Amino acid sequence: MQAPLQQLQHPLLQEHKLILWVKREDLLHPHISGNKWRKLKYNLQEAKVQGKETLLTFGGAYSNHIAATAAAGAEFGFKTIGIIRGEEHLPLNPTLQFATEQGMELHYISRELYRHKNEPYFLAELAVNYNQPYLVSEGGTNQLAVKGCTEIIDDIDVDFDVICCASGTGGTIAGLIAGLAGEKQVLGFPALKGGDFLKDEIDQLVYNYSGENYSNWQLITDYHFGGYAKVKPELLEFIHQFQEQHHIPLEPVYTGKMFYGLFDLIAKGYFAKGTRIVAVHTGGLQGNAGFKERLGIDV
Ligand SMILES: *Cc1c(COP(=O)(O)O)cnc(C)c1O
Repeated sequence: MQAPLQQLQHPLLQEHKLILWVKREDLLHPHISGNKWRKLKYNLQEAKVQGKETLLTFGGAYSNHIAATAAAGAEFGFKTIGIIRGEEHLPLNPTLQFATEQGMELHYISRELYRHKNEPYFLAELAVNYNQPYLVSEGGTNQLAVKGCTEIIDDIDVDFDVICCASGTGGTIAGLIAGLAGEKQVLGFPALKGGDFLKDEIDQLVYNYSGENYSNWQLITDYHFGGYAKVKPELLEFIHQFQEQHHIPLEPVYTGKMFYGLFDLIAKGYFAKGTRIVAVHTGGLQGNAGFKERLGIDV
């Protein structure tokens, strides 16, 4: 499995004398996409070590993590159970249809109950009801996920100054920060509104993994476009243009927002001349089918 670095050509990069590579994590695996593969890798190993036969995890109805876990279970010989937020809608949307085809068993819980998904009593009940599965939290973020994401850094064979990624739960950026161990600069673009709440969680994730805290990173919270999975016409236009120029597909939930934000920062002169940037394409392209189905939007 390979995630090559692809250097972009763009007038703005020339103008500001910047070098920008895209780390194509979206090409790591056809179905266990991008950062979800990194986050699952050591969890799958741990589940095997513990002799578990089943993976149980959580997500929304269009979740990249649900799709990735279902595919990983099929490929590596685990049964998978997905606890899905909200009610069942038939026919299944493309994400849940795919998960089901990979053998995932879906269980729907109310939004109220879903809020308790990290509470010990709730997890204990699931463990009993589903025969002691290996539990993977929402978005797959835990210490083993952070470990997996440090390997994104190991995989980069060019010298760079700044690395950036989109952030949801913060597991991926925590891995980048831990992997760099205080070197270079890391930028996270939260896909959620009010992304500042992530700061402490990321610090905690980095600390739990490495026993250290680092200050060479920052969240850029201005590019959420109204909130998680919210889309605006200028974002879609940017994505279409980007795809046309660079032949790299994006999606509007994470990677589209990150690249929009990155190019906006570049245009505003945020980066010093000569800065070498790596932007991590975290994948998630399976979600585009859901946008088409739900909103009639062609991404
Ligand atoms: C899940 C996901 C993210 C967010 O990763 P976190 O580790 O939760 O911050 C970013 N990009 C894509 C494409 C994703 O699917």
